[in-house]
Amino acid sequence: HQAMYQGKRNGRNNYAFFTRQMSEQALRNLQIETDLRRAVDNNELELFYQPQTCSRNEKVTGVEALIRWRHPNLGLLSPLQFIPIAEDSGQIIQNGHWVFRQACHQAQAWQRNGWEDLRVAINISPRQFQDIHFIDKVDAIIEETGIDPTRIELEITETILMDSTQLCLNTLTDLKVRGFTIAIDDFGTGYSSLMYLKNFPIDRLKIPREFIMDIEDNIDKSCVVEAIIALSHSLNLGLVAEGVETRNQLDFLLERCHCSIQGYYFASPMTLLAVNHYIGENRDQESSLEVSLSTNSASTAAVSS
Ligand code: C2E
Ligand code: MG
Ligand code: MG
Repeated sequence: HQAMYQGKRNGRNNYAFFTRQMSEQALRNLQIETDLRRAVDNNELELFYQPQTCSRNEKVTGVEALIRWRHPNLGLLSPLQFIPIAEDSGQIIQNGHWVFRQACHQAQAWQRNGWEDLRVAINISPRQFQDIHFIDKVDAIIEETGIDPTRIELEITETILMDSTQLCLNTLTDLKVRGFTIAIDDFGTGYSSLMYLKNFPIDRLKIPREFIMDIEDNIDKSCVVEAIIALSHSLNLGLVAEGVETRNQLDFLLERCHCSIQGYYFASPMTLLAVNHYIGENRDQESSLEVSLSTNSASTAAVSS
């Protein structure tokens, strides 16, 4: 009652306050929208990479490319601050193309560096996926970079699967024919039918961070994660767990499945320089392990002979 009375008494002021806030927000969005048009040409976009680690041997098997924007005045912007705006304005089609191209060039550079098995995941937005020139652009990128599509994973959302099913199926099939891996990002947060899991060519499910977050003390959430794991097993789909931050969360998963782990527990999204270093160290551990094993067996052999 008090609040209602207060609200009525201040009605006009509140209204003025909200409209000012709203117009400030609208102005800021408009500014972002305008600035974003020049961001590609001004070299302000950058890809960060977050490692995905095999739950069995803790080796980095892939990375997810995550866009960042070094805005001249606003500093480093998270995709959450501009991707929704770009999606609304349609600008995402250009930005997404830039991401795709950049990530494929990088994947190719890693291949030349000897990391042939490193998978690179790219987020595809609905507008981009539904663009009638999407497949043509993908083909142009394959041609330009010489990338082997089997090393690229495309992350799509349930939203994409929900609308215009036939078109979606055609595009997915076109991508599969070329060899791309398809993952469903934030699986279980949308409202799509489970039928598509059987009917559409999908390879992996990504368990969203929201479900992983309170696995330890929220029985409902842990049931949901268990259900996704069961589903992935019965449909023979791979799994990526996103947002793994603690040892407990990791143990929960290790006890139940084999999956890729993506989260702060192992590594955050990082610059190209940092991720090169991270993967280099991760792979060195492997080779140093091999060296020490072979040294051991050599010395054992020497002793026994
Ligand atoms: P996403 O594709 O689900 O990416 C995972 C997000 O979770 C990333 O946020 C990552 O930094 C964050 N994350 C991963 N592990 C942890 C963790 O352990 N703890 C916490 N707190 N967060 C974790 P980011 O980079 O801010 O990206 C947010 C979203 O923006 C992405 O969610 C994706 O939907 C979108 N996005 C990013 N890059 C692109 C892009 O190139 N194109 C499109 N269309 N969308 C993108
Ligand atoms: Mg993603
Ligand atoms: Mg996600």
